[in-house]
Order: sequence, then C-alpha cells, then structure tokens
Amino acid sequence: LEARLLAKNDEVAWANRTWLAAHDVVTLNLMGAPGAGKTALLERTVPALGGEVPVSVLEGDQDTERDAERIRAIGANVAQINTGPGCHLDAEMVARGIEGLAPPPGSLMFVENVGNLVCPALFDLGEHLKVVVLSVTEGDDKPLKYPHMFRVADALVLHKIDLLPHVPFDLERGLENARRVRPGLRTFGLSSQTGEGLDAWLAWLRRIRPAAKASARLGGAAP
Ligand code: MG
Ligand code: ZN
Repeated sequence: LEARLLAKNDEVAWANRTWLAAHDVVTLNLMGAPGAGKTALLERTVPALGGEVPVSVLEGDQDTERDAERIRAIGANVAQINTGPGCHLDAEMVARGIEGLAPPPGSLMFVENVGNLVCPALFDLGEHLKVVVLSVTEGDDKPLKYPHMFRVADALVLHKIDLLPHVPFDLERGLENARRVRPGLRTFGLSSQTGEGLDAWLAWLRRIRPAAKASARLGGAAP
C-alpha cells in the first residue's frame, strides 16, 4: 500500500515539477521539526531578498492560518494548507496550493512542510531542492537518529546559532553527524534572531536560481 501511495505521489510530483519548470518557478521544500524556526527563517529571508525576485510561500500545518498570517504580514504571496490529522505535505496538496497561489513566472517559491523530521522526507512534492532546518536546541545527534531526512536534503540550515552558548549542542559534532549520513551536505549556520549567517544563505539562494533551472532533476526522465 505504501509503495502504491508513493508511486501515485511521484506521478503528481512530476506534474508539479513540469509545471514549475514551464513557469520558471524555482521551488524549495523547507522541512524540519516543529519549532525549528522554519517560519522565522522565511520572515528573515523574504524581506532580505528585497524584491529582487517575487517570492511565494506555501505553508503546511495540521491546523490554523498562523504561519500564513506571519508571512502575509511581510508582504509575500502566501497560501496555507491544513493537513488535519496528516503529518506531511504530499504532491497533490501542493498541486492544489500552486493553483491557489499562482506563483508568477521567474519567481521563487518556498514550501514550508508540516513540522516533522520523519515522513516529509518520503514525499516528493516536485520541488527543485530540499532544505532541512535543524535548530541547535534539538541536539547534535538528530542527523544520526533521523538519517533519512538528512540523506535527502540538498542543504542544512543549522538554526538558532545565537543560542549555542546556552545549549549542549556541539557544533563540530552536529556537522560531523550530518555529513556522516549525507557526505558533502551544504550547511548554513544561521540565526534568524540576530541575522548572523544570513548573507551566505541569501547568496546561495541567489545562486541556485539559474542552477536549479538547469538541474538534472528538471531534465531527467519522467517516472
Ligand atoms: Mg512554521
Ligand atoms: Zn506524515
């Protein structure tokens, strides 16, 4: 049953990917545990891009419009998906979300997944890149305990680094653990509170736009 579910999901994800490529909308899937600071990162990121590129955000949560309201407050095009009892976004939900959002051609879209370090890793949404957000309050052993999420990630945002002096998180060990499950993983140490590390993250976002367009994922064979 799970295999069939995932096969169906991959079909819809492929349709999403095709639509996003045709409309030149570069899409990142932000994943991480509840409270990792995914929305806070977006609240920093979207204004910092300073209108260089139109940004749309698709918010996923079990319930409430709270995150969509936060994103609306910073002036981005946003839609909220509520999954009810569901614990992840799937490609079908994102397809409906894209319809509602109508991201403009040449834009950037963030999909903030439901807070969960487990099954969002299994569901392709048709995004170009997957980013996992891990806050230093969660512990440096998380990449070893939840390896699948880190294995599928294209980048890791090590978040809330302003709290490092107050928590037992060992930065070197955390990075080592992440790279043990995902060798070469690109990592950004960042604080959305202080803005430390934000520049490198923004520079990468600016760089991946054209690169993602030309990526093998887009040009690869349909499933
Ligand atoms: Mg959130
Ligand atoms: Zn789930």
